[in-house]
Amino acid sequence: MFIFTFMSAMNIPKSSFPRIIIIGGGFAGISLAKELSKKEVQVLLLDKNNYHTFQPLLYQVSTGGLEPDSIAYPIRKVLKDYPNFFFRLANVEEVNPSKNELITNIGAINYDYLVMATGSETNFFGNKEIEKNGMVMKSIPESLNLRSLILENFEQALLTDDLHLRDALMNFVIVGGGPTGVELAGALAEIKKGILPKDYPDLDTRRVQINLVQSGDRILKEMSEKASKKAEDFLEELGVQVWKNTRVKSYDGKLVTTQTDLSFEAATLVWAAGVKGAAIKGLDAEELLMRGNRIKVNEFNQVIGHENIFAVGDVAGMELPDYPSGHPMMAQPAMQQGKNLGKNLTYLLGNKPLKPFIYNDKGSMATIGRNKAVVDLDAYKFQGIFAWFVWMFVHLFFLIGFRNRMIVFINWVYNYVRFDREARLIIRPYKRDYTMFKD
Ligand SMILES: Cc1cc2nc3c(=O)[nH]c(=O)nc-3n(C[C@H](O)[C@H](O)[C@H](O)COP(=O)(O)OP(=O)(O)OC[C@H]3O[C@@H](n4cnc5c(N)ncnc54)[C@H](O)[C@@H]3O)c2cc1C
Repeated sequence: MFIFTFMSAMNIPKSSFPRIIIIGGGFAGISLAKELSKKEVQVLLLDKNNYHTFQPLLYQVSTGGLEPDSIAYPIRKVLKDYPNFFFRLANVEEVNPSKNELITNIGAINYDYLVMATGSETNFFGNKEIEKNGMVMKSIPESLNLRSLILENFEQALLTDDLHLRDALMNFVIVGGGPTGVELAGALAEIKKGILPKDYPDLDTRRVQINLVQSGDRILKEMSEKASKKAEDFLEELGVQVWKNTRVKSYDGKLVTTQTDLSFEAATLVWAAGVKGAAIKGLDAEELLMRGNRIKVNEFNQVIGHENIFAVGDVAGMELPDYPSGHPMMAQPAMQQGKNLGKNLTYLLGNKPLKPFIYNDKGSMATIGRNKAVVDLDAYKFQGIFAWFVWMFVHLFFLIGFRNRMIVFINWVYNYVRFDREARLIIRPYKRDYTMFKD
C-alpha cells in the first residue's frame, strides 16, 4: 500500500516504498522506467528536458527532412499510467553519495537507490577552438541551430559576388566518419542535388562542397569492412569528398586545418567526432571513471564502490573481455541495460540474486541516402535499397509514440515521392558572425 506522509523537497510524497531516482529520460532511463512500472517502488524521473529525444534522427531535423516535434516525446506521457511515478523537470548538478542526496537546480532530494542514465555529451578532446566555432548535433536545439546555419549560409552566399567567399559559405566540413557524420554528409549531398538548384536558381549550387573527414583508415569503423567500403562508394556517388587518415587540428571559424597538408576554408564545421559519458559532479572522481568519461560499473550496472547507485546506457562503463571500453554507445545497449536493471532492482529488493547484463547485439546500420543504406546483422550483411527499407522500418519501430511514427512515415513517403524536404525553415535564426569572411 502506498502511504502519504509529509511532502519532501520537489513536492514528492514520502512513501513506504523505496525511492528510486532515475536521472535521464533517454533510451536507458525510459526502458528502466517501463520495467519498474508495476513494481512496489516509488520512482522519480528527473530530466533537464521534458521530452525524450530520438537522437538517431537528429540529422534529419538538421537537414529539413523532419520537424523536431516528430522525434521528441513528452516524458510525462510515457509515465502517465504508472502508479507511484513522478517526473520533475530538473538539471541535476551534483550527487552526494554519503548522504544519498542529489542537488538539482530546483532543490535537493534524497534517494534510496539512484540510477544515472544521463547519456553522453560531445567530446571535443580538449580542443576549445573547435568547441567555440564548430557546430554539434547532440540535441534538438543544436540540430535546429545547424538547420538554420546551413540555410543562412546559402542566403549569405546569394548576397556576394566574391566567388572565394561564396565557396567558403557553401563548403561544409563534417568531422567524424561514424554513423552521424556519414548520415549527415549523405543528407547534405541529397539537398545539394534535389533542393538547392530549385530554391537558389541564381546560385551556382554545383560548387557546394561536402567534405567528410575521418581520422582513421575507414568510415563506419564499428561496422564490417564491406559496409564501410559500400558506404564510402555511396557517398562518393553522391558527390561527398571523403578524407581518410586525416585528423582535424583547428578551426577558427573560417579555416579548417588538419594534421596533413589539407585545409579548407569553410563557414561550417560540424563536429561529429566523439562523445563522452555525461558523468555528474560527485560521481566524477578519476578512479570512478573509465576511458570516455564513463562511470565504471560491475556486470549488474552497479557503480563500483556504491551499493545503491547504478549507471546505465552511454554513461555506464562496463568493462568486459568482449567490450574492454564498455558497450557501444548506442540505443540498443542502453535499452537492454535499462531493462535488465529494472529486473535487478526488483531482485535486490526481494533479496534475490542479481542477473548479470549480457548484451544481445542485434547488429548495426547506417543510411547514406535514398535507397542507400548498409546493414550488418550477425549472420547477414547487406547494402542498398533493401538495407534502406530495413533501416527505415527499424527506426520507425523504435520511435516513441504512434503520432511520431505516423508523422515520420508520412514525411518519408512525401520526401521520397516528391524529392523534397519541406522543413527547410529558419525559424530561430542562428547568429553566426560572418564578418571574418569579409576581410
Ligand atoms: C546524432 C546522433 C545519432 C545517433 N544515431 C544512432 C543510431 O543510429 N543508432 C544507435 O543505436 N544509436 C545512435 N546514437 C546514439 C544513441 O542515441 C545513444 O547511444 C543513446 O541515446 C544512449 O541512451 P542513454 O539513455 O544512455 O542517453 P540519452 O538518450 O542521451 O539520454 C540521456 C538523458 O539524460 C538527460 N540528462 C543528461 N544530463 C542530465 C542532468 N545533469 N540532469 C538532468 N537530466 C540530464 C538528457 O536530457 C537526456 O534526456 C546517436 C546519437 C546521436 C547524438
